[in-house]
Amino acid sequence: MAELVIRGGTIIDPNGSHETDVAIADGRVVELGTDLDGDRILDASGCIVSPGFVDLHTHLRQPGREEAETIGSGARAAARGGFTAVVAMPNTTPAMDSASVVAEVLELGNGVSCEILASGAITVGREGEQLSPMGELADLGVNIFTDDGTGVQDDAVMRRAMEYARGLGVTLAQHCEVTSLSAGTCMHEGEWSTRLGLPGQPAEAEELMVSRDIALSGLTGARIHFQHLSTGGSVELVRAAKAQGLPVTAEAATHHFTLTDACVGSYDPVFKVHPPLRSSADVAAVRAGLVDGTIDAIATDHAPHTSQDKERPFDAAPPGMLGLETALALAITELGDQLDLDHIVALLSWRPAVIAGAADRHGRPVAPGEPANLAVFDPTATWTVDPADTASRSRNTPYAGRTLTGRVRHTLLWGQPTVIDGATTR
Ligand SMILES: [Zn+2]
Repeated sequence: MAELVIRGGTIIDPNGSHETDVAIADGRVVELGTDLDGDRILDASGCIVSPGFVDLHTHLRQPGREEAETIGSGARAAARGGFTAVVAMPNTTPAMDSASVVAEVLELGNGVSCEILASGAITVGREGEQLSPMGELADLGVNIFTDDGTGVQDDAVMRRAMEYARGLGVTLAQHCEVTSLSAGTCMHEGEWSTRLGLPGQPAEAEELMVSRDIALSGLTGARIHFQHLSTGGSVELVRAAKAQGLPVTAEAATHHFTLTDACVGSYDPVFKVHPPLRSSADVAAVRAGLVDGTIDAIATDHAPHTSQDKERPFDAAPPGMLGLETALALAITELGDQLDLDHIVALLSWRPAVIAGAADRHGRPVAPGEPANLAVFDPTATWTVDPADTASRSRNTPYAGRTLTGRVRHTLLWGQPTVIDGATTR
């Protein structure tokens, strides 16, 4: 008999959708069918059973800022959101720019509630000058390199990084922000920044770097992934680059298709992010990019901060908001009228799994022989976001009090439940 059976759900995977029970043993799916029996039964009636989600953009804060998050607490938040793997961003203290720090992160990720995929910094200290030992980091399994939190400003350094990346077969990911245009700013430059009297960052601060990196990708042949695209101009640049056949991919963070710069009108630092919340026209363009496939993945940019840090004045507060536990529900609630569930799951699961270089074990079809890395969610359940009810060590969610549709019920990592009925198990 199987160790575990997920009973009564509807599968959505890259091959389509159909109703079936799923039997699991030794970490893998062993059988599909009706009325399957096992030692343990997880109820999935009314639920979707899909490959687990993969987040391309998670800040776990460890090492260095464990009061805000740890690899363990972040992984529990991820599991509650249906994620079975997350790419840990490199802006830790110290940065993930050496084999020793990357090895430490991977070691700390052993046995937590989701697989921790380490990114590597492109440059030493994320300072944009000297390349990190990319080959050594790639040998440790690093597939994605980024200086996230900042973009690589120097054109020649970025060109060299791309040449190495191409040789190593890894992907460069970029936080696009030209600092000479963004220095001293704390929100999007537009009608709202004028009205609020806060220094604004123009959309061009992002778009100039997107444009440069597309050009450098053409020059070097390297794969480039654009992180948290936030402006209509960026979406259009990526659309054109893809039409030319360049190896370019992109993600959108949940807040960039759900919130606008008007939210900053409250001066509440919970709405401060990098890149900033943009205009309603930009939000519409990001949504259109998700709908037509220009944007390949939904990412969270999960960025925990202690309340002490986040409750400073708007211009002084650190940027970032939580994202792992609300991503699926925000996608269903805000995009459900434009995207069917299959498309939403693709954006959260198999498309990011490919970009992360983890498509051999995540985002797989739910079929016999495949890894049992799975999410089970109720697409119609409604719930109200309560910052106190999070597995994260931090509380900085801008969605507090919002009622959302779609809730993760169970999550399985290699056949072991990490979440049962919404509660974490480890
Ligand atoms: Zn970033």
